[in-house]
Amino acid sequence: MSTAVFGGTFDPVHTGHVKMAQSAIQQFELCRLVIVPNGNPPHKADITVTDFDHRYNMLKLAFEGMDKVEISDYESREDKFSYSLYTMRYFREVYGEDTYFIIGADSLLSIHLWHEYRTLLKENRFIVFPREGGDELEAVARKYRAMGSEIYFSHMPMIDVSSTQIRSKLSCGSDCEGILCPRVREYINKNSLYGGAL
Ligand code: ATP
Repeated sequence: MSTAVFGGTFDPVHTGHVKMAQSAIQQFELCRLVIVPNGNPPHKADITVTDFDHRYNMLKLAFEGMDKVEISDYESREDKFSYSLYTMRYFREVYGEDTYFIIGADSLLSIHLWHEYRTLLKENRFIVFPREGGDELEAVARKYRAMGSEIYFSHMPMIDVSSTQIRSKLSCGSDCEGILCPRVREYINKNSLYGGAL
């Protein structure tokens, strides 16, 4: 039984993230899925990210009661930028080499911009969720497999939702029904996040 690490900014967590976690647990017969909100994401250094504590609390609410899911504050303990290479090394050390790294197709397509991406690819087994890319995605996966990476695709159909879309809708007063868990929506209201009308 394997573990999977699901990293991201989760600003905020959306129903796509929740469906991804459920689907990965089922398809890959995981015994544990660890959600790791970024402490200080290097690729988002130039944009404002909501406080770690709020993103962590929203994850707790979205995944409340879901078997096999844990939320980790590992990256909040790091002062430096949170590089996936080191985060994955930490979790493989804790849970063993039978550990996957969950990412979306957009992340696989831009992974060449990540810190020491060749080493990251070689050291890890990836579960990739469809998002964009089509034929290009297959070609990129073939190239990375040839470089020594293990890449598996999720069977989950594409889900058209992103945190960017949610932030934009919330700032216009939408309640984001269906793409935001109700408990998360309540938390956002209570804490006046994302500039939405209360
Ligand atoms: P943003 O719009 O702020 O960039 P996001 O919706 O991509 O956020 P993240 O927290 O950055 O959410 O995502 C964490 C991981 O989950 C990334 O690897 C991302 O590619 C993947 N992911 C997020 N939403 C989806 C989705 N709807 N389908 C497939 N993968 C997704």
